[in-house]
Amino acid sequence: MSMAESRTKTMEAAAAAVGGKPPVCPVCESQAVVFLCEVDGFRIFRCPQSATDFVWPMPGDAQLKQLYDREQWFEGGEKGGYQNYDAQTEPLLPFYLEMLAECERESKNVSILDVGCGYGTHLAMASRRGWQCFGVEVSEHARKIARERHGERLYVVESVERVIPHQFDVILMLEVIEHLHDPYPLFYSLFSLGAIGPKTRIAITTPNARSFAAVSDPGAWIYRHPPSHLVYYSARSLRHVLERLRFTGVKVEGTYPADDGKPASYEDETAGVNDEWVSCSGLLARASGSDFMEFMHERYVPGTWSKITEYEHLPRYAFARTYAVGAQVLDFGCGTGYGAAQLAEVAEHVLGLDASADALVWARATHDHSHLSFEQRDDLGRGLPASSFDLITCFEMIEHVDEDTQREAVQSFARLLRPAAKLLISTPNPEVTVNYGENPYHRKELTEQEFRQLLSASFAHVQMLRQWIRPSVTLAADDLPGQAAEFGYIGGTDASTPPANFLAICSHQPLPGLGEKCYLDGSQDFVAVSMAREKALHQARIEHFSILQRTRDLYVSLVAREAELAENRAVLDGMKGSLSWKLTAPMRFVAQLLRGGRSRSRS
Ligand SMILES: [Zn+2]
Repeated sequence: MSMAESRTKTMEAAAAAVGGKPPVCPVCESQAVVFLCEVDGFRIFRCPQSATDFVWPMPGDAQLKQLYDREQWFEGGEKGGYQNYDAQTEPLLPFYLEMLAECERESKNVSILDVGCGYGTHLAMASRRGWQCFGVEVSEHARKIARERHGERLYVVESVERVIPHQFDVILMLEVIEHLHDPYPLFYSLFSLGAIGPKTRIAITTPNARSFAAVSDPGAWIYRHPPSHLVYYSARSLRHVLERLRFTGVKVEGTYPADDGKPASYEDETAGVNDEWVSCSGLLARASGSDFMEFMHERYVPGTWSKITEYEHLPRYAFARTYAVGAQVLDFGCGTGYGAAQLAEVAEHVLGLDASADALVWARATHDHSHLSFEQRDDLGRGLPASSFDLITCFEMIEHVDEDTQREAVQSFARLLRPAAKLLISTPNPEVTVNYGENPYHRKELTEQEFRQLLSASFAHVQMLRQWIRPSVTLAADDLPGQAAEFGYIGGTDASTPPANFLAICSHQPLPGLGEKCYLDGSQDFVAVSMAREKALHQARIEHFSILQRTRDLYVSLVAREAELAENRAVLDGMKGSLSWKLTAPMRFVAQLLRGGRSRSRS
């Protein structure tokens, strides 16, 4: 297929071809992607915007884990696997040693996390230099070899979630990200653990999808092997990922230069940095200095924090969707824009407003929808025309401003709404936030009564909903339950549990009564995830215990040996001081010679 032909395959045609969701670029979320090629029954698409190729639809996690657990993956020379793991990982060593040396100059007690650590080769080198070494390796086979080769010097776990909470000096991801569905969740997990701080250096290597070999014959490129490789990066897409994660000092360079490096690029991609490395079959990206941890502390990015945080934030927008159909919507304090983007799927138009330019950079880069726009304002919407919205959402914003501003904001909302329009506004319950400790971003938290008073000053009708987060159990004949479900309670209703948030519906006109709404999380197998978490916790406790025991055993034997040594020394000193020891010295010398002579004659 020619390049022009492949371009004519639009996103819709692609979606129809796979009979499911339309392909979305995992790096930049663009849907303006083109079909590139088909390899081993997997369809591969190309995103001109970020210069990234990706498999669509993506295979599931279980299928991938099975693939990596086998030894043949590491030694068998399978397509996509390693021919010989040790030999192929060697050429990157010089850059690695340089990076370790740089860190050692800056700090003592240095620590490293190697995500996808394989046999632990890189970690063992750091360990010999006195580094604290941690690894993540999904393959059981590789973990076993790492243990055999390096014993207990390395702390290697199966998944990122099991890494100890610790800020690392260096994080390696060598030939890892091309195996992931999406590069961001791995980083979100690391940031949520506190593993990446402003000083953390990060190094990523991956095959170069904008090398001459990859571009000149996309389907035949040797690294194009789904399902093990799922996303194919260019220098530009690596930069995109790292800059979105707010890394500074991002440096991408080519590795493994090849001789056949003639110019090659796709006509609809701005070449730039990719052209520079067209002759290199691999890429190395280095970065440091990300303040993303602080960024996600201040505002919610879906996928960070925990499931509980998700349960707190996402259902409010799901609820708001029912009011947003065909409406002009203002999402006030839209933050990273995930909620505005959800509403844009059903609304006539959604305007996401936020005072933070940083948040809006994220929102614009992450959410692209024709019914959605973002605007930075810090005038509480006073500059917008009166009576211009059917719905205003303002979730978990009001507690971030002082009392006067709270009042002015609600007055502004009242002015912006059309007569029959609604304001959906929420704030956390101080009774519950006290569990989370001091929040420096909250200026004035409101009790239910204070919240109601604030809203009633500007709205004739205020209906208060309380938001609880509770596990749910579903009994259903349908594949997709919850469409027309009834809800009840089992095991009591525990009326003493305080609601986590208050969510108010405000209007200038009377509001109809509203029953309970329950949103079910269908994104994960809750039983499987909970069991795995339990198992992991259990194992961590056992591991912790065995480490303590081993330390104790070593200490005991050390003390015993020291005592033994002291005793021997005392005996020896006593003997050396005695007359007979001195007198028999020549005999001991002869005996020693004889012993040596005999052993030599035997050999
Ligand atoms: Zn893209």
